[in-house]
Amino acid sequence: MPIFTPGRRWQPAYSPFKKETFGRVLLENVEYLIKGPLFGCRMCGNCLLQETAFICPMECPKGLRNGPCGGSTPEYCYVDKTRPCIWYKIYERSFKMGREEDLLEVLPPLDWDKVGTETWGDVFDQVKKMGTGKVAGGLLFKPAKERYKVWDEVFRNVREPGWWQGDDKYHAPAYPEPVSELERRLKAGEFVVACEIAPPLSMSTKKLIENINLVKPYVTAINFTDNASATPRMTSWACSKFAIENGAEPVMQIAARDRTRASLQSEILGATAMGVRNVLCVTGDSPILAPKPRGRMEINDLDAIQMIWILRRMRDEGHYLDGREIKFPPKFFLGAAASPFASDPKFQAIREHKKVNAGAQFFQTNLVYDPDRMEIWLNELAKRDIFGKVYIMIGITPLKSAKMTHFMTEVPGVFVPKSIVERMDAADAKGGAQEEGVKIALEIIEKIRGKQGINGLHIMPVGWEDIVPRIVTEAGLIGQIEMNAMPV
Ligand code: SF4
Repeated sequence: MPIFTPGRRWQPAYSPFKKETFGRVLLENVEYLIKGPLFGCRMCGNCLLQETAFICPMECPKGLRNGPCGGSTPEYCYVDKTRPCIWYKIYERSFKMGREEDLLEVLPPLDWDKVGTETWGDVFDQVKKMGTGKVAGGLLFKPAKERYKVWDEVFRNVREPGWWQGDDKYHAPAYPEPVSELERRLKAGEFVVACEIAPPLSMSTKKLIENINLVKPYVTAINFTDNASATPRMTSWACSKFAIENGAEPVMQIAARDRTRASLQSEILGATAMGVRNVLCVTGDSPILAPKPRGRMEINDLDAIQMIWILRRMRDEGHYLDGREIKFPPKFFLGAAASPFASDPKFQAIREHKKVNAGAQFFQTNLVYDPDRMEIWLNELAKRDIFGKVYIMIGITPLKSAKMTHFMTEVPGVFVPKSIVERMDAADAKGGAQEEGVKIALEIIEKIRGKQGINGLHIMPVGWEDIVPRIVTEAGLIGQIEMNAMPV
């Protein structure tokens, strides 16, 4: 363990002065010396190595403990291109070892009391609790299957504390009737359209309200991003409130990057009390994408999957993370982001599967420009039998210019085929880029509509909100207009 971490205000006591038993100090040092070089251990004190193919995930700059972010690539970590994505490495090795199904267990956030300490003491305590003789006998003399069971019982209890109880099972929502119009329509089998409106950069809400009223007749719900690109704008819950006041249904996005476990829980109670009924959990872009001076770059308190797990339990089990009962639990339709083109479709499918198990009821995907290649990801999802447990809305962003197209090719988790880049370059040279961009978007929508497991679209116009009515109309999704004339 480092003597001290530069820039961190709170430092654990320098180890010689720590009030710990000699045995614990010894274990700590031995663990650091052995696990550091072997597994890249960062002494998080909440060891997960059993579930991560013996590679410590704490090297991930976002501190993710449940799989890769939407910007993961086989080549490098998008936050720090000098190193590989550690989660890509974990997935790759898990597949090689035949341990990929272990990646489905929903792993807990850090218990910060333990950070910087060893985990072996907890393992020994657990062995004592189960009976040292029983554990030793089970590991030494039982057949392989039994041996694995004993081993797993020891480590599962260490990594899954009583306040978390994560598992690898599907948890269906524990309420019968839809809680939002978005959920009702998806459940009814409609091909649903949502769109995104960029929150204002100032306190003026004039343009925001104009945009809400512009797109409202054409979409079922409107997303408000939560400081996309780690760049501050009006908060998502405030925009959601303006949407409700103007007769539209919001999807409140909430990014783990800017939340602690306490603020997540308090915000969800406040937002649902104000009438928000759709919540989309994302991990959030890294501050590396933000304007300078940069904020905290090291670790998130939670990842998106942990957020989903906490929120589902608040809603369906009626308690806070710390176990206190919630007398009137919040109601919401719970969503997550999905990324068909990040890392590897096989890897992403595990990550999406885990989100569904944790409680995600709908996905809104990253931008799709290649529906044929997206099919590989869909096939992986089909193998995992998650269609029917989650509604999938595909992300569409109409391209406006050749410059924007080239920019998109650089966005982590987005794939733009060469043919589209060439079409946009040629159209831009003739002054017809916007028309070509709309044409491409309509072609993609046409292809997407027939595919397995797709339940709708999520249009992200990136400030080009005026184009939403045209796209919805020309895509033949005009039926939405009459339905949306009903009060929400
Ligand atoms: S690409 Fe994302 S998941 Fe992978 S190490 Fe970097 S921040 Fe973590």
